[in-house]
Amino acid sequence: MDCIFCSIINKDEHEGMIFRDDKIVSFLDIRPLSYGHTLVVPVAHYTDFREMPADLMADYFAQLQKIALAVERATEAHGFNIICNTGIAASQSVFHLHYHIIPRYHDDEVFKRLNFKKYDHSITMHSYAEKIKKQLF
Ligand code: AMP
Ligand code: ZN
Repeated sequence: MDCIFCSIINKDEHEGMIFRDDKIVSFLDIRPLSYGHTLVVPVAHYTDFREMPADLMADYFAQLQKIALAVERATEAHGFNIICNTGIAASQSVFHLHYHIIPRYHDDEVFKRLNFKKYDHSITMHSYAEKIKKQLF
């Protein structure tokens, strides 16, 4: 399979490698939104978050938190975003599950223009809550 993250995991030569064990690897993003922008990737190939097996989650999220705190300390950031783009519409470009850790600073304007919507009488918050509740199974 032609997957850039599988090749990185198999070669183990990435300049920005931070962590690896038998389940999880972590390395720096080659196109950082801020310096220290880090990716946390399961060793096993899952296309995206939809495919993430439940039995990976405890280890994965514990390691994600550990690495995020290390990134925050190392970069002296004031906070961070943890993002998992899922699907082309959500800007996923590498189809091997990963989370981004993006160090953030006060007024850094990394995500400057977000287009917030409003619920109103024609599109109610309640109708969306009901739709989503029906899909929880
Ligand atoms: P996404 O758009 O959420 O799928 O994120 C994929 C990320 O992988 C992008 O931010 C890329 O910059 C990053 N990326 C692609 N190739 C490499 C690489 N060889 N080393 C590190 N990061 C990479
Ligand atoms: Zn892969």
